[in-house]
Amino acid sequence: MLKIITLTPSITFTYIPSPETIILEQYSTASMIAFITVALIAGIAFASIIFQALFSFIFPAIIGSISDGIDTIRFALVSNPGALLKRRYETYISGKIPYYDALPESLKIRFLRRIPYFIRDKTFYGREGLEVTTEMKVLVAASAVQLTLGIENFILEKFHTIVFYPAKYLSNITGLYHVGEANIRGMVVISWSDFEKGYRDGKDKYNVGLHEMAHALDLDTRAGNYYDDEFVNRYRRWLKTAHEEFDRMQDNGEHFLRSYAATNMQEFFAVCVEHFFEAPAEFKQNLPELYTELCRLLNQDPLQFSSRPSALKPTSFSTPIPDNPA
Ligand SMILES: [Zn+2]
Repeated sequence: MLKIITLTPSITFTYIPSPETIILEQYSTASMIAFITVALIAGIAFASIIFQALFSFIFPAIIGSISDGIDTIRFALVSNPGALLKRRYETYISGKIPYYDALPESLKIRFLRRIPYFIRDKTFYGREGLEVTTEMKVLVAASAVQLTLGIENFILEKFHTIVFYPAKYLSNITGLYHVGEANIRGMVVISWSDFEKGYRDGKDKYNVGLHEMAHALDLDTRAGNYYDDEFVNRYRRWLKTAHEEFDRMQDNGEHFLRSYAATNMQEFFAVCVEHFFEAPAEFKQNLPELYTELCRLLNQDPLQFSSRPSALKPTSFSTPIPDNPA
């Protein structure tokens, strides 16, 4: 006969919620659904921002840096970097930057060789839906290289970011429309349509690219960064002559430099740089002493490229980057 022995008595729990408990439970279920919904929406929004950032900025920046890095290594290793550099960059520069076209062959190579180093050192952003192209990077780098071709340390290291707007933009700082700026936070901001306009007419003494790069060089030097004693000494000498002319400009309505140069010493330098490259003969004729000091400071003379190819002499500065191709 089968005998069932129950070792553990069965226990039954009976749960009878009070009316208050039912209301509380309904509340907590509704809250939970609301919380999950909000969390889901926030999660999706956050994921989409991350996704967008990855594909819009981070991945292109990583891929861009890798490709620019590979370029600089290739240019350093190949036996004839000139041909490679020309294939890679001349198509963007030649015919658009008259300064480059007027350079003798050896300086063209020096010019092109600096482009990838400059691009690799900066982060580029487009605002208001503007997509930053290789051409834009190369041309803005070219404007910096034009200014600093005679200076060994040309990277403008303090300036890590270049921001492009499609056209003139409203500045948060001044509340005015700007075509460009170089600020102490290390950003150069440029209206792309105005940048292009600056190079379209190479003789009108207006060039936003050169103007902003001049501010960047000036700010870098004033901060005491990245330039050796020789440049700083030339800069002090330039400032002395520049101050004298700046003071004369305050008293004199008519002047070779456009009136904006009289705003302050920073604008004076930036406007001088525009005139120096776009109207060197006129500059030299009207302000010979100032012109000579600017030639000394920048270690180049745009008037002499065609007649004396060796006018731009490498300075005695030590440099981390070789400029003369093997
Ligand atoms: Zn300015």
